Amino acid sequence: DELIEDDDTPVRWFRTNLLKTNTESLMREFKHLRKVNTIEEITEPGVIYYDEYIPNLFGIHPKEKLTSTDAYNKGRLIIQDRASCFPAQILNPIPGKDKVIDACAAPGNKTTHLASILNNSKRSIVAFEKDNKRINTIKMMVEKAGGLDCITIHHADFLTTRQKDFPEITGMLVDPSCSGSGIFGRAFDEQEEMDKEEAKEKLADRLLSLSNFQFTIVKHALSFPNVRKVIYSTCSIHNKENEEVVRMLLEDVQVRSQGWRVSKREDVLPTWPRRGKSEVFEGYENKEELADGCVRALPKVDGGIGFFAVSFERDLPQDKDNN
Ligand code: SAM
Repeated sequence: DELIEDDDTPVRWFRTNLLKTNTESLMREFKHLRKVNTIEEITEPGVIYYDEYIPNLFGIHPKEKLTSTDAYNKGRLIIQDRASCFPAQILNPIPGKDKVIDACAAPGNKTTHLASILNNSKRSIVAFEKDNKRINTIKMMVEKAGGLDCITIHHADFLTTRQKDFPEITGMLVDPSCSGSGIFGRAFDEQEEMDKEEAKEKLADRLLSLSNFQFTIVKHALSFPNVRKVIYSTCSIHNKENEEVVRMLLEDVQVRSQGWRVSKREDVLPTWPRRGKSEVFEGYENKEELADGCVRALPKVDGGIGFFAVSFERDLPQDKDNN
């Protein structure tokens, strides 16, 4: 559902599926396109932009034919919004070393992006999806991407998983259900509704229950014994689902006792300019640093969907022994 097909999209993004090809070969199929240096220059078909934040990601004009190309149909490229590529890039697992869980996986954009980064390492990703319909979507996507050896798919509620069953897992992506307010159209509809007092209350109720669910599922991810890094993301523009969830987690007794902290900007796409909202961390001495650890994208003006991502990290005693 992050595959944006409406004409409103300022840029259509796609990435090389490293499970099937490499960028050099893929770009031979796009050599008719002229390279431009900024997304502002994507004003018409015929040009291509090589993204500066996400390796192997490209921007083209939305009117450019993409879904009819052989590369798309055979899965050599995957259409994925730029900001939606942030979580796997921030987690940046190491092939042959890391094993990761994607807790909320369908349709599988981020799961297959992880597989690309992990160099298709055998059984290095476990993906959970609880929805009866969406489980089929992710199965199809993983197969099309050529990721069946790398990705194990479980049709299950991640919240029912037991920590002791996954001692090998070192990192996690948690991209749970959210309001979707960063996706065009939806944000706009909401704005119109906001005029009515009743609608405002309804939205507040919805955001409250979503943020409680998001807190619960990230907290579960943070409770796995060998996990060093957990990325939480949403395609929401609301503080309630973003920095406020981070704040609730930082204030949770159990999360604190497990040694978790928000990763610093230097490890979270440091050159991406739009960061988290510091006012949500009011009262913290390091509130600017916490906000800087979060990345945000605004719908359209940042070249795609509205988005939020943050990284939690910790050191484990066994890591010190190795140093
Ligand atoms: N990460 C996906 C991608 O990039 O393609 C998008 C994930 S979408 C925002 C959230 C997904 O999480 C939905 O498919 C939803 O059914 C699933 N989900 C929600 N709660 C879950 C749970 N407790 N366990 C497993 N999956 C869950």
